[in-house]
Amino acid sequence: MADETYSGEFYCVKCREKREAQGDVVVSNNRRMAKAVCPECGTKLNRILGKA
Ligand SMILES: [Zn+2]
Repeated sequence: MADETYSGEFYCVKCREKREAQGDVVVSNNRRMAKAVCPECGTKLNRILGKA
């Protein structure tokens, strides 16, 4: 489950734009989520990838 990474588009709520970022994939409540940090403003980004 761990040690998986995702790179792609995340929506940054602070920039209100999509950002290319790379982050870790985590599983929460049987959903795979990617977590990254916005390269522009440093805000944490989350993206739901789907079911685990
Ligand atoms: Zn941002």
